[in-house]
Amino acid sequence: MTERMHTVQAKSLLTRWNAMNVYRGCTHGCIYCDSRSSCYQFTHSFEDIEVKQNAPELLERTLRSRQKRTMISTGSMSDPYQPCEQTLRLTRQCLRIIEKYGFGAAVLTKSDRVLEDLPLLRRIHDGAKAVVQISLTCADDSLSRLIEPCVCPTSRRAEVLLEMKRAGIPTVVWMTPILPFLTDTRENVNRILDMCFRTKVRGIVCFQMGLTLRNGSREYYYRQLNRLFPGLVARYERTFGLVQEVESLNSPDLMSLFHERCAKEGVLHTPEDCFEFTGTLSSELQQLNMFD
Ligand code: SF4
Repeated sequence: MTERMHTVQAKSLLTRWNAMNVYRGCTHGCIYCDSRSSCYQFTHSFEDIEVKQNAPELLERTLRSRQKRTMISTGSMSDPYQPCEQTLRLTRQCLRIIEKYGFGAAVLTKSDRVLEDLPLLRRIHDGAKAVVQISLTCADDSLSRLIEPCVCPTSRRAEVLLEMKRAGIPTVVWMTPILPFLTDTRENVNRILDMCFRTKVRGIVCFQMGLTLRNGSREYYYRQLNRLFPGLVARYERTFGLVQEVESLNSPDLMSLFHERCAKEGVLHTPEDCFEFTGTLSSELQQLNMFD
């Protein structure tokens, strides 16, 4: 598939939470993607990647003038490792600037392309802190290939976690979304947790066992369900109506399982603890712990 993209000169890059997206839109094709929701006001096709060509200059200008170092995060809206990153290298250029000014980086992705930046992430970690965050939603690779068709499957993402661990870079897993009637089983959750514990992740973000369906993302999700799992949309409509926060009927049981197993393994398992870890430089965390 030829990748579509268009370039823009962005006016700003970092949000007030120190998050950035050098690309807007995503070609990974996850059927449940919340970033497709109309509230995000995309004026172009979601697969036509908006490339913020001047992202490195904008980032450098901001970081150069900052007195206080912080973590800079990327990947909340669009995956920073789009196929076009292999030629454009905007994510890499931004990481180099983060390294140059001694800031920390928290990168969220589903793509094994992040491994190509491992040495750079290691240097950022040595200087401040780097955290690699990987989304795992479905332990079974054949199902992962159906619902996340254009990015590496779950087993490969687990290898990425292992490579990061071997390199001494801490990792966090986003176990979300969990899809009712597809991945909301004890078996799936247990297998994902096994992968997380085997690869020694520091934390797992899981808000609830379910998914968000807003205008825009709901239509896309239902179209894909109709194509891949005929009959399932009617079941969703009967069970959940038009609620935006769709919670699996198995959520209470699965959340208990999740919290119990994580607590036993010493893995961070509340969103607050995970966000404190990903949003705080190592030096600041040490200070916080001294006052605990
Ligand atoms: S990787 Fe993230 S942004 Fe890209 S399609 Fe999947 S859920 Fe959406």
